[in-house]
Amino acid sequence: MPDLRELYQQIILDHHRRPHNFRPLPEANRRADGHNPLCGDEVHVEVLLEGDVLRDVAFQGSGCAISRASASLMTDAVKGKTVAEARALFERVHRMLTGERGAVDVREMGSLAALQGVRDYPVRVKCATLAWHTLVAALEGARSTVTTE
Ligand code: ZN
Repeated sequence: MPDLRELYQQIILDHHRRPHNFRPLPEANRRADGHNPLCGDEVHVEVLLEGDVLRDVAFQGSGCAISRASASLMTDAVKGKTVAEARALFERVHRMLTGERGAVDVREMGSLAALQGVRDYPVRVKCATLAWHTLVAALEGARSTVTTE
């Protein structure tokens, strides 16, 4: 049996070191900035929305390993999904991080399950959800900067 916690830490480290979709997306038609003042995380999320589908998603910015890994995992997870599916996924991630233990079946969460250890560090939950809040703001067409405070 592999040690799940080690596996999850490895996934987070890998996404921190080599984030996926960490690039500008000039053809994007939805954008938002997110800021987590508690930690100093900054994220810029860009989405190419085609009809109801997130055809491409990318991010830039700087922040701690958790915020960066979470943004990277998020872009992989929501690409190709509809707006409703992406929102539903965020709700599950949020429940996994803040709800009762076992509220979400992590076996259905794929790589996103790597974030579940963050639930034991409430200050870090904001790092992990920043990119998601920013994605939702981008999809809603919000122009102001999202802040976790
Ligand atoms: Zn952070």
